[in-house]
Amino acid sequence: MARILMLLRTIINTITKKAAIILIFIMLAACQPQDDLTNKRQLFVFGTVIDVVIWSDDEARASEAVSVISERFNEMHTQWHAWKPGRLQSINKQLQGGQAVKLTVEESKVLKSSLKFSQLSQGHFNPLMGAVINLWGFHNDEYPITTPPPTLESINSLLESAPQVSDIHWSDNEISSGNPNVWFDLGGIAKGYAVDVAVEILQQHGIQHAIINAGGDLRALGQKGETPWTIAIQSPKNWQPLALIKVNENEAIFTSGNYQRYKAFDGKRYAHIIDPLTYYPVSEIVSATVIAKDGMLADAAATALVVAGKKWHLVAEQMGIAEALVVDADNRCFATQAMRVRLSDRRITCETPKPLTGGL
Ligand code: AMP
Ligand code: MG
Repeated sequence: MARILMLLRTIINTITKKAAIILIFIMLAACQPQDDLTNKRQLFVFGTVIDVVIWSDDEARASEAVSVISERFNEMHTQWHAWKPGRLQSINKQLQGGQAVKLTVEESKVLKSSLKFSQLSQGHFNPLMGAVINLWGFHNDEYPITTPPPTLESINSLLESAPQVSDIHWSDNEISSGNPNVWFDLGGIAKGYAVDVAVEILQQHGIQHAIINAGGDLRALGQKGETPWTIAIQSPKNWQPLALIKVNENEAIFTSGNYQRYKAFDGKRYAHIIDPLTYYPVSEIVSATVIAKDGMLADAAATALVVAGKKWHLVAEQMGIAEALVVDADNRCFATQAMRVRLSDRRITCETPKPLTGGL
């Protein structure tokens, strides 16, 4: 009899637990609005989590688009890697050996764009600095890096023949270089290009409303139902939101900074973004956020603005960026007027920059 009672109690307990679980499911289903068409997917590529949020009632189509994006991203991650074997490394080695390299149309487009951004930014963005980025130890997956900084002599020796845009010679889709220090490192625009490719893939799949967020760098299509996609700009110090921005159709918003990837040695922090003029890590600006019409420009401009220091707004202007915001090493925020009007729920006051004399 006692055994039967125990068995009964176990059955009742199990049923009660199951009922509780079912209730949670029902509650969750009830919390999800009927008209919520959000399809969220996560990818892990480029050393970061990439969120793809698609607003569509066609779940199968959303999944198909994301799987194409995932395949393309993984391929790009391998082929465009700055220091691991892949197509970019092979291009770099051939250039280093004085050989001419025939590029595909896509390779041509990306490399040409990177050089164009270098010119537009007056050299603050320079995609040819793989050698010095490697010298500082930043061709590494493990952050923070704790090795000592390079010696002054080794930095100066590279600086003597610092690669410039003019070192790359084009003949149709073929490139060559006379400078053995040329080493393409596309770390400053690769995510931007990837986000642009993702948007193209989404559009090819007939998706009109989506946001693709690669670790805070993002581009949006359409909107989230009746309301625009809204994102937060995070503080470079504590990840708290500094302000919100409503993202317009097809805008890209990118942030560069030294708060995630850096070298820490002897109580000093060295940013992974290098000033092409000095070959030293930048220190004046800790974070720059820009809005642009495509990911590649937004990505290049955000990096360039971090390098530009006090002249960030002049470089922004040269690159055709109207909306930009920077946070300096003293945690002071500056933003262009066009950016200020885009910010809501501000937790920080941003000054507009004072006009600078002397140009770039
Ligand atoms: P981002 O996070 O977009 O600012 O890109 C930073 C990455 O771009 C670094 O990890 C380097 O690979 C590369 N980089 C560093 N300094 C520069 C620079 N001045 N111009 C272009 N690329 C750079
Ligand atoms: Mg960048």
